[in-house]
Amino acid sequence: MPLYEYVCQECTHTFETLVFGSETPTCPACESAHLERQISVPAAPRTESAALPMKRCLSDGPPCGPACSRFPGS
Ligand SMILES: [Zn+2]
Repeated sequence: MPLYEYVCQECTHTFETLVFGSETPTCPACESAHLERQISVPAAPRTESAALPMKRCLSDGPPCGPACSRFPGS
């Protein structure tokens, strides 16, 4: 059962939900289907963040690379 994190584009509500097959999730706050799936893997390339000098990484995960602000020794 895949668990995905979504951000509602209508009300910015963030939530996690299980998605079965081709089922389309909706926002539990406003029931909008206009959602953006969040990618929680630090190594996943994203065009918007590629131009940023530092990658953002999970606060409870390991540093995502030498440019990471959380890299030990930097
Ligand atoms: Zn919403």
